[in-house]
Amino acid sequence: RGIGRFSTAAALEELIAPPIHISYTQNLINGQFVDAASGKTFPTIDPRTGEVIAHVAEGDAEDVNRAVAAARKAFDEGPWPKMTAYERSRILLKFADLVEKHNDELAALETWNNGKPFEQASKAEVPMFARLFRYYAGWADKIHGLTVPADGQYHVQTLHEPIGVAGQIIPWNFPLLMFAWKVGPALASGNTIVLKTAEQTPLTALYAAKLFQEAGLPPGVLNVVSGFGPTAGAALASHMDVDKVAFTGSTATGKIILELAARSNLKPVTLELGGKSPFIVCEDADVDKAVELAHFALFFNQGQCCCAGSRTFVHERVYDEFLEKAKARASRRTVGDPFKKGIEQGPQIDEEQFQKVLGYIKSGIESNATLECGGDRLGSKGYFIQPTVFSNVQDDMLIAKEEIFGPVQSILKFKDLNEVIRRANTTNYGLAAGVFTKSLDAANTLSRALRAGTVWVNCFDVFDAAIPFGGYKMSGIGREKGVYSLKNYLQARAVNGQLGVRRRSHSRTTDLG
Ligand code: NAD
Repeated sequence: RGIGRFSTAAALEELIAPPIHISYTQNLINGQFVDAASGKTFPTIDPRTGEVIAHVAEGDAEDVNRAVAAARKAFDEGPWPKMTAYERSRILLKFADLVEKHNDELAALETWNNGKPFEQASKAEVPMFARLFRYYAGWADKIHGLTVPADGQYHVQTLHEPIGVAGQIIPWNFPLLMFAWKVGPALASGNTIVLKTAEQTPLTALYAAKLFQEAGLPPGVLNVVSGFGPTAGAALASHMDVDKVAFTGSTATGKIILELAARSNLKPVTLELGGKSPFIVCEDADVDKAVELAHFALFFNQGQCCCAGSRTFVHERVYDEFLEKAKARASRRTVGDPFKKGIEQGPQIDEEQFQKVLGYIKSGIESNATLECGGDRLGSKGYFIQPTVFSNVQDDMLIAKEEIFGPVQSILKFKDLNEVIRRANTTNYGLAAGVFTKSLDAANTLSRALRAGTVWVNCFDVFDAAIPFGGYKMSGIGREKGVYSLKNYLQARAVNGQLGVRRRSHSRTTDLG
């Protein structure tokens, strides 16, 4: 059970990834890979074909209880928070070394389970994954409190302490990177963790957790439970012994998480949610470059990015030229087996998302947006969708309002900056925005007026471990990455000590003791 091997032998010479065995399908609790308490498993699939890759332990409330008990013990009694920060830092660095050593295995497993191009996973995502842990390893021994000048009678210091047991719930679009954004800062600041992976993509987190064991992470510090949201996820968010919950996923689920946290022990919550990000092409733009960037902003990762530039606003002066070129670019996009060289786009994650995206395409056609290219599935098996471009999109159409999470570009026309600012901000989301212009004034105006947690000017999807990321409005609460994320996992304790010293005050001697 649980052992698989990818079955694309016929195309072997075209494959650029190493063959890979699936070795870890059980939950990791207290340093042991164990079956689910119920004995149940669920299939995890290959989105290229819809075929089962492996059967994975299906964790539920009982497994979450066991994992939380292990994390609690590791926090309250175990070595992790008591270890020197330097030792914690060394374990994170050792883990990053092991990730680099196993770069291609991790990337192949990510591609197999998620469908993203192997070249993207192996050249960008796994290296970025290692980089995030190196970054937080650097922080581990630089976390410190303050000495507070009180009124002279007290010596006051703040201790920045780990919060305790962190419950972390992640999505399927970037399984490894979401693991890193959550686990890196939590471990660096001395917390212990129960991580629940997305039911679509349980495999790479288990592999990475095994590497953490090899790196010397003590048992119980990082526990990984596979399973579904309403069972395992809800149990984690509502657990009385979980001190903090961090979630990435849809806005609808984010609201549930917040409620569960409030109804249980009022644990603090950070949320990274959905978006409907504008990408604004100004009248002075170099159209060829703008087309390429807008294409990347939307189609990257099969369009499955929370921050996807999914409303392409183009100034009327360059609109026609932009449209022709955007259509040509989308039609040239290489879609196919993500294990093959040169593939830009693989399949969508699963049947549900595949149907959802096709439903939005249908809605775009029905609402009289102009279908410029694509509009259908590609091939007859797996979840491949043709790169699709709509023009003549109006603000009140569903495809301009809701998150599609697929390879569907919506192009909208605008006349002036004030108008586009108003329209771009007319959304409940506020995750990211893109601006393409040669004008410093336009760049400055837009990057301050757009209500979004990230504004990319003449670039898009620039992510670095040090750059904070998070949403305004219904795109989330809090920031991840950078120094900001550490604050999510720390709390300050003020220690007040009466000084009891004699001090001179003007000409009198005051006894303060
Ligand atoms: P989702 O919110 O249903 O799932 C995300 C995670 O939450 C998964 O681990 C899931 O098991 C868990 N979950 C689901 N219901 C839960 C519950 N009741 N209690 C606790 N945990 C629960 O997201 P999805 O439907 O898998 O993804 C689709 C949407 O999520 C996309 O359309 C997009 O809007 C959003 N998304 C956002 C990001 C981001 O980075 N902001 C990333 C991926 C997906």
